[in-house]
Amino acid sequence: MRFPILQTWFGKKASAAIPSPPKDRSGIRVGIPKVLNMWSTHQFWVAFLREIGIASENIVFSSDTSEEQGREFGKGRGTVDCCYPVKAMSGHYGELIFGLKKKVHVIMSPMIYSLPSFMRGHVSENLACTRVMAGPENIRAGFVKESDVFKDNGIQYASPFVNMAEPEMVPKQMYDCLKDVFDIDMAETQRAVDAGYKALRDFNEKARTETRKILTWCAREGKPCVLVVWLQYLPIDDDLLGWLFGEETQAKKIRSPLDISDVWTSSNSSNTNEILWGAKFATRFPWITCVLRLSSYECGMDQPTYTPTQKIVEATGTLFFKFGDLDSTKPAGSIRIRIETIVHYLAKYSDKIIQKKLALLPPDCPLLLDKQEKEEKALAVVAGTD
Ligand code: SF4
Repeated sequence: MRFPILQTWFGKKASAAIPSPPKDRSGIRVGIPKVLNMWSTHQFWVAFLREIGIASENIVFSSDTSEEQGREFGKGRGTVDCCYPVKAMSGHYGELIFGLKKKVHVIMSPMIYSLPSFMRGHVSENLACTRVMAGPENIRAGFVKESDVFKDNGIQYASPFVNMAEPEMVPKQMYDCLKDVFDIDMAETQRAVDAGYKALRDFNEKARTETRKILTWCAREGKPCVLVVWLQYLPIDDDLLGWLFGEETQAKKIRSPLDISDVWTSSNSSNTNEILWGAKFATRFPWITCVLRLSSYECGMDQPTYTPTQKIVEATGTLFFKFGDLDSTKPAGSIRIRIETIVHYLAKYSDKIIQKKLALLPPDCPLLLDKQEKEEKALAVVAGTD
């Protein structure tokens, strides 16, 4: 007696277990507009594309935003948005369509719903700005209003909607959007997403390690430094955060060193959360004696944070300077004058600020302990003699 169904089932299972050979995608060129949260997540996108077989030289970013770019490639394509970085996207799209000698086959411009922040779990949400979510669709509209300019130029437009703060959701979101664009299957997508997150994690860790080296140098040499609260890659090592935030954490004023509920109750926006936390770090860390705040023209996310950020930073006497609407106004002359002012204030007040902030903290700064001291301290803690 034969059991055809059973045979077929086993037969299918066996062949499904063999991964399909990688498809040759080395000839596909992908253009990515260098805008918005692409700046903080591009390692993910590059690693994703490389993992599915797109050659590195075929991953093309648009050039830096400039007025010429907007004039030459974005003219007449603008859509309604008062945020300068979103308005500037038209020039980036246009450059990738009309401005490249070697044409791209795909333009990939993700709609990023949430961001993979180190503050996840310590704040309410890690959402991207709503304009970041909607920006790609908004700008695409300017290129399909009369005819589909992408299609006319033989370009596929791909805009995956991604919850980057929730890695478990991303493979399906990427697959749904990109399966036909790159002819990928789910297993390939999963591998590529994993590679993307790994690249992003590695980059962030490397950047934080470098920042720690700078802060250690400042601490050991007694030199001040300046923090730009923006996309700062501050170290989040337990020893350092324990030194800076340990007392408040033990007193249960905050749930963890990354908790910002004491200064910001609606912690929904990822970038805002990181700016506020950066201000908290800066106001405590003795050798950061000055904070610079940059802001974009007409940014609705930045606006409510100006006063809280300044108040947090200045609470310990740390210097605070703001360069507002920087991307739109580009006040080169006045920036030069203000930098001279900042240098003057740094030279005059840094020593006092460092001493004042050191007096507020426990004596054993981990950046001042050398390796041997650290090991002795760790042993003492284990032996219970510390
Ligand atoms: S965060 Fe501000 S500058 Fe950035 S996209 Fe949103 S509104 Fe525009």
